[in-house]
Amino acid sequence: MFKKILIANRGEIARRVIRTCKKMGIASVAVYSEADKDAPFVRDADEGFLLGPPPVGESYLKQDRILDILKESGADALHPGYGLLSENAEFVNKVTNAGVTFIGPTPEVMNKMGDKSAARSFALSADVPVVPGSEGEIADEDAAVAFAENFGYPILVKAAAGGGGIGMKVATKEKKLRKAVTECQRRGQSAFGDPTIYLERYVENPRHIEIQVFGDSQGNAVHLFERECSVQRRHQKVIEETPSIFLNRFEDLRERMCAAAVRLVKQSNYTNAGTVEFIVSPEGEFYFIEMNTRLQVEHAISEETTGFDLVEWQIRIAAGEPLPVSQEEIQFKGHAIECRIYCEDPEHHFFPKPGTIGAYSEPQGEGIRVDSGVRENFEVVSYYDPMIAKVISQGDTRDQAIDRMLGALADFTIEGLTNNISMHQRVLQEEDFLNGNYDTGWLEALYKK
Ligand code: ADP
Repeated sequence: MFKKILIANRGEIARRVIRTCKKMGIASVAVYSEADKDAPFVRDADEGFLLGPPPVGESYLKQDRILDILKESGADALHPGYGLLSENAEFVNKVTNAGVTFIGPTPEVMNKMGDKSAARSFALSADVPVVPGSEGEIADEDAAVAFAENFGYPILVKAAAGGGGIGMKVATKEKKLRKAVTECQRRGQSAFGDPTIYLERYVENPRHIEIQVFGDSQGNAVHLFERECSVQRRHQKVIEETPSIFLNRFEDLRERMCAAAVRLVKQSNYTNAGTVEFIVSPEGEFYFIEMNTRLQVEHAISEETTGFDLVEWQIRIAAGEPLPVSQEEIQFKGHAIECRIYCEDPEHHFFPKPGTIGAYSEPQGEGIRVDSGVRENFEVVSYYDPMIAKVISQGDTRDQAIDRMLGALADFTIEGLTNNISMHQRVLQEEDFLNGNYDTGWLEALYKK
């Protein structure tokens, strides 16, 4: 087993990984920017190394500096968390070449899944349904228009390298399509250094439902059921729950989606944690949209309903151990919900509102877990993701999980910083949410009313 793990990330996920390191008796190394020097994750770690100034390009994305710290600290493994360098195959190669184990999948599979257009083709070859769309990339506006004339509107333009809802635009007619192509190529280039785009049918009123998967280096693959992530704004998740009560409405749908996800893991020789993301039409047709080759923000709800520590699984699998359990031993219990607490203003287009937290106190109680990256008098800066905490509630039933969440949100004190707690409280009491009648456009529509 590893002796020392460097966590190339910050905030709540760095703390989350450190927690499991402590449990397993593994030393932890934090790396941090000047803005984070007093952050809780730095205090939690056994050792800390300064990366540089606050902008991510000068700190958390500075590969050479992280490699130097790997050497200096003597860490024998690196956990990338999510975002930042977690899906960067070039970085994984550098870490491996330095003789350090990367806790995640191989760079080969990361490359395969990192290009969303190539991932679509791969999914098709594994007999996993994808959203109908262009086979491979679309060269330019004219090619897009020619494709759409046969295919029909509405159509979604997507940057192949896209992520986090960036580089995606819906077009309902030719003029809009031309604009969307230029815009997505530009966004792909500026945010990910790759202007490649492709086209997909825009599925109306879909649900976003994903399957947590794991593979080990012995060739075993399992799923840990689904997470429903349809409460979104700007194509990004804010509330997740498991199980999805929508899936209960269709016979076998859950089983078929889980089986498709496991097929993808097996056929790609996937190792470590991954998430296979699908959108599901109101009629219950499901389509692969992408695979995330890392731990997800919302992994905690799967931990609460299955009882496993997924970070521990990641570490053990990276160390060469087989999956600790078989598919049959993965039992699902109760219901779990996650509310992501962002410093953003739900009343004003969910705009991020960084600032300084005054008084701060987290809720506690039966079935409540809080994973956070902040503390009292902490300054949340604009350089990083505006998510400051996750509240996770678990109950025997969905109603109990919702009740517990409402209790926890009421007990959460975050003074001096605009945040979205009131939005969560509103959503959790909306009739549509209570009845499970929501899709990926539902939250934004609620706030336009
Ligand atoms: P990203 O990598 O940027 O997160 P995804 O491909 O995972 O992008 O899609 C993010 C969200 O965008 C989905 O959860 C869904 O709300 C919406 N979306 C993606 N593809 C489609 C589609 N073909 N039709 C309708 N909505 C889609």
